[in-house]
Amino acid sequence: MKDTIYTIPLTDAFKAEDECPFCFIKRKLEQDAISFTLGCAYMQDDMREITDTMGFCKEHYKKMYEYGNRLGMALILHTHYIKLQKELKKKMDKFTPTSTHFLSKFKKASVSDVASHNTISHWVSAQDKSCYICDSIEKNFKRYMDTFFYLITHNDDFKQLFVNCKGFCVSHFGDILSLSDTSLSNKQKEELYPILFNMMEENLKRIEADISWFIDKYDYKNTDADWKTSKDAIPRGIQKLAGIYVQDPPFKEK
Ligand SMILES: [Zn+2]
Ligand SMILES: [Zn+2]
Repeated sequence: MKDTIYTIPLTDAFKAEDECPFCFIKRKLEQDAISFTLGCAYMQDDMREITDTMGFCKEHYKKMYEYGNRLGMALILHTHYIKLQKELKKKMDKFTPTSTHFLSKFKKASVSDVASHNTISHWVSAQDKSCYICDSIEKNFKRYMDTFFYLITHNDDFKQLFVNCKGFCVSHFGDILSLSDTSLSNKQKEELYPILFNMMEENLKRIEADISWFIDKYDYKNTDADWKTSKDAIPRGIQKLAGIYVQDPPFKEK
């Protein structure tokens, strides 16, 4: 694997001094996917066929609505509605109710238990999970992860960037570990895990200290004291745990 189109954005993400370079990448991928979907993709028949079939998740309907381009959104929704009604009609025509056994009426079932026996609710939960934007982010994200593993093991400059970064959010730390199982040799794991674990410990501690000073600043004795690095401790603290940028304004069409 040589330098790819993923190398520069990945290197930039590690230079951005973000709480997690992979959150940084993911936000860019999400914004690119939203601008692509509502920018030009909706006018191409082949792309529309894909969005008609896949639809979008709750989070991305919201983000697409915030982005703007109401006509584009209406066109996407309209053909998706047509496709969805056809599919649902097929499911309803084929539907046979499951028979209710005498005793099962007395058995307490959770919502997910009930759903597991019903073909239409199966179809509905698959619709809920299906999202063109999520899918596009995931495909590209995997390529960035592969590039990451290639670069930390083949490029000393990049390895240095990795060693000096602010660590990763808990969620992307998990992704790195699960992918490292197959992407790294035993020898590479022996070298990288201690660096990565130490990095996570140090950086979680750093954020905890920032949050602690944020709380102390509310003490009247500290009114005039310096904020140090604690002013944005809450958004950074949330990002480190959940991989989201709570302080970001809605992403809008330019
Ligand atoms: Zn992250
Ligand atoms: Zn989505």
